[in-house]
Amino acid sequence: MIRRRRRIRVLAAAVCLATAAAAVPLTNTSPATQPTPAHAGPAQPAPATSAEPRVIVGGREIVVAGTPNALTDRAGAHLPAAIATVERFWGPDWPRQIVVQAAPSDTAFAELTRIGPDAEHIAAAAVAEWVDPSHGIAVGQRIVLAPGASALTDDDFQLVLTHELFHYATRADTALDAPRWVQEGVADYVARPAPTVSTTPTAPDRLPEDADFAATEPAELSVGYDRAWLFARFIAQRYGSDRLRELYRRAAGPGHPDTATALTETLGADEDQLLADWRAHASGQPG
Ligand SMILES: [Zn+2]
Repeated sequence: MIRRRRRIRVLAAAVCLATAAAAVPLTNTSPATQPTPAHAGPAQPAPATSAEPRVIVGGREIVVAGTPNALTDRAGAHLPAAIATVERFWGPDWPRQIVVQAAPSDTAFAELTRIGPDAEHIAAAAVAEWVDPSHGIAVGQRIVLAPGASALTDDDFQLVLTHELFHYATRADTALDAPRWVQEGVADYVARPAPTVSTTPTAPDRLPEDADFAATEPAELSVGYDRAWLFARFIAQRYGSDRLRELYRRAAGPGHPDTATALTETLGADEDQLLADWRAHASGQPG
């Protein structure tokens, strides 16, 4: 099952590449105070219309964009748990409407997400047309499912959907240049079950850098995600999940300082000490 788990980590990791890839150049070309296309969505995205299937789940309106199929039905079945999980961590203050779309083909998925040829092994992506974090605005959000998502086990489908829903819920509060380790680490903290012995890697001497999340080698990509996830788990275990949420807002919100400053301001500990404590914690020693 390691092989299977490894593949899923690649899937969960890759779903976020589109957001980052689009955010980098746009951050440099668009004022933060103006509506900014934070993600490459459809060239002429089809907005949700009153004719699209809608259902109320967990107090939120689920809208199926495009053609409903077995995959959107599956998403509908898994969304109540995903919503509850995200709300437990982030609270209820995020978009009441959740738009889900099943791409009819891998080519359509690549086009809808603008991920390109790298979309081949991606299960889902959370995209947005315009984001203005300084004003808490995210427009045209949707979770796009690739045909390959139908092959996931129920547990893995739940993980991927919850991970993407966390990005959906926090998009309007996340700076375009937010460190990836915060975004992915906390999304995985919310979505992934506790690690088992077989999935627990050695605690490293540094946090993942943004480049670690752009690795093309699946094993390297998994390492970045796993480290971010485990560090987020360590913070939550030591300081509580409320502090982890505060850390997300400080380290990834608009106008965020560098990671070291955000850690010190939020947790009262410097980065080197936290990493040392994490290594001690991971090795079972007091720290
Ligand atoms: Zn992600």
